[in-house]
Amino acid sequence: MDQTIATIPWLLATAVAIRNETATVKTFTFDVPDWPGHLAGQHVDLRLTAEDGYVAQRSYSIASASGTGSHIDLTIDLVADGEVSEFLHNELRIGDRIELRGPIGGYFTWSPRQDNGLLLLAGGSGIVPLMSILRTRALVKSERLARLLYSSRSADRIIYREGLEALAALPNGVILTHTVTRGAPPGWKGERSRIGRVMLTRREFTPAGHPDVFVCGPAAFVETVAGHLAAMGHPEDKVRTERFGPTGE
Ligand SMILES: Cc1cc2nc3c(=O)[nH]c(=O)nc-3n(C[C@H](O)[C@H](O)[C@H](O)COP(=O)(O)OP(=O)(O)OC[C@H]3O[C@@H](n4cnc5c(N)ncnc54)[C@H](O)[C@@H]3O)c2cc1C
Repeated sequence: MDQTIATIPWLLATAVAIRNETATVKTFTFDVPDWPGHLAGQHVDLRLTAEDGYVAQRSYSIASASGTGSHIDLTIDLVADGEVSEFLHNELRIGDRIELRGPIGGYFTWSPRQDNGLLLLAGGSGIVPLMSILRTRALVKSERLARLLYSSRSADRIIYREGLEALAALPNGVILTHTVTRGAPPGWKGERSRIGRVMLTRREFTPAGHPDVFVCGPAAFVETVAGHLAAMGHPEDKVRTERFGPTGE
């Protein structure tokens, strides 16, 4: 394990709100009295300890805006037979306590102080750290261009659908494009396939203006999208990626 992460203390966190985002995704708000604050894009380690001492630990991105308040939001997809996500979805109640360690990660982060314009690309629950970036951007009323291309299997699996629309409706709001890969409902105005170069060009995810690019989702999604971006001429040092997966690979 990374020695610097090992030195971050575990903090007690109390669940203060739980809300449904989709049929399989919930957002958990935790009160963490000693929370030191975080940058948009960072994550936490979450630790569960059973009465017999058995410990399970997973990483989760922080969904809430950058800041120093004591509340943080984690948005968690229910993975079939998933040890930690099933516990959180099915067992955790308001008032229950778990342990969190963080914030973690210095690479996949965004600060309004270095706002060069943003291109954000998310697959599934990969939207979570990008939502933190967009919420932070809205708080500081950024006037720089931001685009989000968000790939979901179907329209009913879009996480934060209304919240994203609200962010898009703000002055200088994010330019939002959804794509669904397994069938679109009647009247769908977004894209209807996996992300490819043609779609990226059509939606103006080009290197013009030297924007910072953030890509997050399952490992295969990230590999594919990052490959397209490189082929389109996005410099390697402008494209940050985060892979959500069983081992964080
Ligand atoms: C930096 C980082 C940030 C993350 N942020 C988030 C987040 O914001 N929201 C979120 O929902 N998840 C996030 N994840 C994924 C999370 O850490 C867990 O992997 C996920 O919740 C599954 O844990 P589990 O204990 O429920 O499943 P496990 O018991 O670990 O796994 C059960 C089964 O599901 C498979 N599996 C495990 N994880 C996944 C996955 N992510 N996708 C598909 N199959 C999987 C396993 O191979 C296994 O077969 C993040 C991962 C990383 C590395």
